[in-house]
Amino acid sequence: MKKVVKFGGSSLASAAQFQKVGEIIRADKHRAYVVPSAPGKRFSADTKVTDMLYGCYALAEAGKDFSKELETIHERYKEIINGLQLELTLEDEFAVMKEQFEAKAGKDYAASRGEYLNGIIMAAYLGFEFVDAAKVIRFSDSGEFDAETTHEIMSKYLGQFSQAVVPGFYGSYADGRIKTFSRGGSDVTGAIVAKAVRADVYENWTDVSGVLVTDPRIVENPEPISIITYKELRELAYMGASVLHEDAIFPVRQEGIPINIKNTNAPEDAGTWIVGSTCQKSKNIITGIAGKKGFCAVNIEKDMMNSEVGFGRKVLQAFEDYGISFEHIPSGIDTMTVFVHQDEFIDKEQSVVSAIHRLAKPDTIDIEADLALIAVVGRGMRAQKGTAATIFKALANADINIKMIDQGSSEQNIIIGVANRDFEAAIKAIYKGFVK
Ligand code: ASP
Repeated sequence: MKKVVKFGGSSLASAAQFQKVGEIIRADKHRAYVVPSAPGKRFSADTKVTDMLYGCYALAEAGKDFSKELETIHERYKEIINGLQLELTLEDEFAVMKEQFEAKAGKDYAASRGEYLNGIIMAAYLGFEFVDAAKVIRFSDSGEFDAETTHEIMSKYLGQFSQAVVPGFYGSYADGRIKTFSRGGSDVTGAIVAKAVRADVYENWTDVSGVLVTDPRIVENPEPISIITYKELRELAYMGASVLHEDAIFPVRQEGIPINIKNTNAPEDAGTWIVGSTCQKSKNIITGIAGKKGFCAVNIEKDMMNSEVGFGRKVLQAFEDYGISFEHIPSGIDTMTVFVHQDEFIDKEQSVVSAIHRLAKPDTIDIEADLALIAVVGRGMRAQKGTAATIFKALANADINIKMIDQGSSEQNIIIGVANRDFEAAIKAIYKGFVK
């Protein structure tokens, strides 16, 4: 049994948090490969070290004095080292960083130091081997993550150590220059390490007890989901549920490694299992609810549209020509509506409308703004009667008008369109309709 454990920034924000993490790792000898983030926020108004590094490097790049800002970052690490009573100093590391900042080594280099330094501390604290991610994670010259080369290098290299710490978030080009993943990328590192060492489980430790049924900013204390499939998670994440970095799924999914989301502050909670497929039913029929505001509906009408072959293609061509992706296309006999992101669409609106006129020759085009889309997701909806009825009843009882309904034939997902102003109330109502 082998586990890869990734800890997020809030789990490593202070010496006290490090101690919790140490206890978690020591409690299970299978927790052999550790992927730390950079220190996150200690309290809500605090600044993440990654953001401090970006800020500090921006000064360096502009040729301004950054010594005070760099020292503040150093202080954060000293506080952790002293709190853990480690015989460790990062003086040399900070001297190198200062030189590299002055030499304008790059924004990615600067940001990666948050994880790099936390990794050094973590390895010293646990007595594990420190493995610089720059050695084992490779990006291609065009800046894409190179999965194949990485797997080859990393599996060989980590094979030498029964316990190791690999800092999250970054890797390097073949020439050694540092490159980071996008924000939140330590999740991706964890998944890559899990694949490389053929872990049985990828534990992702954060500050909530798993993936929640819906957004806790909208519904107070929503239930955690005990088990969710990758596919369901992708649907929810796409609609705004922030759980894991999107690219963290692929490496483990390929290998059939389950992900367990756990809470560093409540390690006894079971958390959420993210798996390929399962025969376990969701407790509430649906698995989760997520949504986003800020959509526009472009409603196109044309008499006898139903019998015109190629009409849809011509309409979509207009959107494609202006680089706008569409979300949903509900249609009627003589109408077709295209849902797009308002902020992407707004500047190109008139050009797209005239392109539709030119290409598809509709009778009318009408645009409605400020709409929200809500996805109700769940493998348990399949062949289950009454799911849509529960949603509609909940919304009707809450006096909310439904603008659009879309259900794919995979029956894993029902999308509802409502006005932006009804968004929160709609999510609350749907949650209450399913979670007893
Ligand atoms: N520290 C990086 C960030 O703040 C990466 C991570 O935490 O996963 O985005």
